[in-house]
Amino acid sequence: MTIRDRVLIAGAGPVGMVAAASLVRHGVPVTVLEANASLSEESRASTFHPPTLDMLDALGAAEPLIAQGLVAPQFQYRSRERVIAQFDFKGIADATAHPFRLQCEQSRLTRILLERLLPAGNFEIVFSSPVHDVTQTADDVAVSVLRDGRIETETARFLIGADGARSETRNALDIAFEGFTWPERFLVISTPFDFHSVIDDLVCVNYVADPQRWHFLLQIPGVWRVMFPIAAEESDARAVSPEFAQALMAEVVPGIDRYEIAHTTLYRVHQRVATTFRERRAFLIGDAAHINNPLGGMGMNGGIHDAINLTERLAAVWHGSQGEAELDRFDKQRRLVTKEYVEKQSIQNKKNLEAPGTEFRDRLTAIAADAAKTREYLLAVSMIASLKRAQELG
Ligand SMILES: Cc1cc2nc3c(=O)[nH]c(=O)nc-3n(C[C@H](O)[C@H](O)[C@H](O)COP(=O)(O)OP(=O)(O)OC[C@H]3O[C@@H](n4cnc5c(N)ncnc54)[C@H](O)[C@@H]3O)c2cc1C
Repeated sequence: MTIRDRVLIAGAGPVGMVAAASLVRHGVPVTVLEANASLSEESRASTFHPPTLDMLDALGAAEPLIAQGLVAPQFQYRSRERVIAQFDFKGIADATAHPFRLQCEQSRLTRILLERLLPAGNFEIVFSSPVHDVTQTADDVAVSVLRDGRIETETARFLIGADGARSETRNALDIAFEGFTWPERFLVISTPFDFHSVIDDLVCVNYVADPQRWHFLLQIPGVWRVMFPIAAEESDARAVSPEFAQALMAEVVPGIDRYEIAHTTLYRVHQRVATTFRERRAFLIGDAAHINNPLGGMGMNGGIHDAINLTERLAAVWHGSQGEAELDRFDKQRRLVTKEYVEKQSIQNKKNLEAPGTEFRDRLTAIAADAAKTREYLLAVSMIASLKRAQELG
């Protein structure tokens, strides 16, 4: 068996494709192995944060993505009755070239990246190739791939596991995925209904705090996504029924009780972090390394930040300007930031929305009334603070 001089990436989701684009940009040959026969069209993450857009800009992907999305400079926290606080990313325009959230489906990004990568001589993608097992020596990684009912072996210098929450790469490397699963599930309802026409001061990104039934209202091109928690005692069958969705939606705007519903997705929500993001020549990034609830939109964004952090170090090692010890910094920085920031913040975001008292509302009002506190808050929610913290870890 000869070692093919390349990096293998398992998974062509947004995180794997960003890793591929970044490596190719740095002159490192890449093969992406994707389990499915084509890129996913699933409706999932839809928010790109400012520093993520800065990173995508370096890959030539920010401009075409912005052209396909909605620019959201503001976001709101609301109660059922009123706006509690509104924030505007222009307050951190000195810290990012993109002082806004971009509302756009993650499936748009993977397509933009693939189109840009296909002409590159050092890029290859192989569909219908689920990674099945991983073995390593001191110099290479061998990956078993199940193709047409047969196991084939692919070899490379390094392997990046970007194969999602159920990562076979993580399992093959025997890395534990520690954490917990929330008792409630989340239901996402998509509707073409125009909420701007009935709620005057609404923006594209709105979180509604309520101890009984918090929800969020997020606009993406052509549709709104409304997400609700679903109590553990509701059956899956009832939760996905049209009547149940209509009853939930009727709580959003008083007096409107029938909506056109384009799509519903019920999903279980976990908070888990892999016990290591590096096992010798193999790495975990994105959902393969960590998963969290979607409040704050940090799952995919954090995964893209992993991809950039890792691939810049891998490129330096590949070209000989750094030794392999450099790769430990990826695990140190990204795992700590995931635990300290993404996990804690996404759990806190959920607790804030469901809290019964006024403490969260009072805190938000105080932040919005103070320019210095607003800036600090915006740096945190945009994830710029987490990237700075990662750098400080050295
Ligand atoms: C319903 C839903 C809604 C969500 N909403 C949000 C949101 O609003 N905001 C947010 O930030 N996040 C959200 N998330 C999470 C977000 O979608 C993920 O964080 C993001 O998709 C992670 O990207 P990824 O590339 O790491 O993994 P994935 O997108 O899961 O991509 C993994 C890829 O690997 C492939 N694959 C799987 N197994 C193998 C294998 N063995 N070999 C090769 N390839 C394999 C898969 O086919 C897939 O293409 C949501 C998730 C769900 C399920």
